Amino acid sequence: MSEPTVTITRRGADRLAGGHPWIYRSDLAGEPRLAGGEVVRVVDARGWFRGRAFYSSKSQIALRQLTREDLACDRDFFAARIRAAKELREATFPGADAWRAVHGEADLLPGLVVDRYGDYLSVQLLTQGAEARRDLFRELLEEIYRPRGIVERSDAKVRLLEGLEQRKGLLAGQVPERVEYHEGEVVLQVDLMAGQKTGGFLDQRENRLALAPYARGVGLDCFSYVGGFALQLARGCQKVTAVEISEQMAPLIRDNARANGAAHLEVVTANAFDFLKQKTESAERYDIIVLDPPAFAKSKASVPAAERGYKEINLRGLQLLKPGGVLVSASCSFHLDEAHFEEILRSAAADSKRDVQIIEKRGAGRDHPVLLGVRETRYLKCFILRVA
Ligand code: SAH
Repeated sequence: MSEPTVTITRRGADRLAGGHPWIYRSDLAGEPRLAGGEVVRVVDARGWFRGRAFYSSKSQIALRQLTREDLACDRDFFAARIRAAKELREATFPGADAWRAVHGEADLLPGLVVDRYGDYLSVQLLTQGAEARRDLFRELLEEIYRPRGIVERSDAKVRLLEGLEQRKGLLAGQVPERVEYHEGEVVLQVDLMAGQKTGGFLDQRENRLALAPYARGVGLDCFSYVGGFALQLARGCQKVTAVEISEQMAPLIRDNARANGAAHLEVVTANAFDFLKQKTESAERYDIIVLDPPAFAKSKASVPAAERGYKEINLRGLQLLKPGGVLVSASCSFHLDEAHFEEILRSAAADSKRDVQIIEKRGAGRDHPVLLGVRETRYLKCFILRVA
């Protein structure tokens, strides 16, 4: 039986050689007649072997490279990849009980995302290749992690580009409504089934932990979700306000505050834009403010509107700080890169007529590695600024 083989153009081969694991449909020589989700042999226009990849029959990203070597992409292959990803996390975060366990392409496992929250896993299968290995990945994750339960959160929109329906449910074992894990001294509860993404935002975990040296006085956490930043602030601040638009989140933030003995954490259900505007018109000022909004630029077309949104909240954030105050400002919009975001912050600082220092420029945590050569894996920016 001959192995399914896909021929790529010279441009496609150059792209792989440059370190990018994706081949677009326009860089295939001809239209392969293959089922989606298969592992295929990739050859260039001269017929030379270029590796193995997942083939998608629907997506514009036709191939996602698994290996450039002549390796069989079998059970052992995938097990080794998941184990290698786990070893990196265990070495980076000794003793931690939560991290992104598999970060798709960046862990050489295209389309597979796995987050670990304490004794539970939350999984996203985002490509036809990952979807076709659903049972295999479940088995390997059970074997390697021995979790009490696994939730599947394959309800991300990108699945539609692969011709896959949205799916969410229990994949293995049992999972309680609220799952507990730790961020340093803080204990957090998240809802893996009903929460956003995989249940939480682990990409900001290290940034939340990085706030300890700055947390003092009066703190404000806008776009708070389950209160992760607010709880880190509460460890050093006398008073903290968490602002979150979703009414459903308030009880969870309050329970999280209670579990951490943070009686000085107040929850406000409000639109952060309105809240910030109202506060700038009052006399209240803060020592530290966190702005961690959802992606305002979800597409290239929405970049101008996103710019205005980021500008507004950051301008107000800077205006609301006491002298010496700290602004922690994040953007997870992939369509707006770090230089662009920094320019928006500069412009907000100029309008605030204050001198603003960059103390730290951070990105996603080390459990969300960036593949050199793959801009798509670099999306999160987190600046720590200080009003001089
Ligand atoms: N800071 C959080 C993650 C934020 S995700 C953490 O560290 O875990 C973005 C959050 O902003 C979501 O919970 C969403 O419900 C909320 N949100 C979206 N628009 C908002 C708005 N205009 N005002 C306040 N909260 C908003």
